[in-house]
Amino acid sequence: MEENTFTIKGEQIKLSREKIVDSIKDHMPQKIRRYYVSIEGVHYPIKQVLEIATKLPPAAFTTNYSYTILNSLGFEIKEESGYVCPICGQTFKPMSEKQLEISKRVHETTSDKHKSALRRKRWG
Ligand SMILES: [Zn+2]
Repeated sequence: MEENTFTIKGEQIKLSREKIVDSIKDHMPQKIRRYYVSIEGVHYPIKQVLEIATKLPPAAFTTNYSYTILNSLGFEIKEESGYVCPICGQTFKPMSEKQLEISKRVHETTSDKHKSALRRKRWG
């Protein structure tokens, strides 16, 4: 079992892949904002994984640092691809549900690409 030491908020914290998997596996995953790791088939946001493994508050690590730590322990970090408009294929980067709802509405009422795709589907 390979253990690495990381400095988080001035504390030396030892982490290994096994320790992380053991600590997270009974937790419900939180909402993914951008990056996640898949642990036993469940997708967890990277900050949640470290929050549980280290018992530190989520503000203790940035997304970048979480990414670096998990990456160095051999986790494959995946990026949420966001929402894709089913009508015209426009992609939206990951955001909160509320933000997405607003962005979708704006897109649907103002995007020429969306409107012409809609016309093609209806009359094409
Ligand atoms: Zn669209």
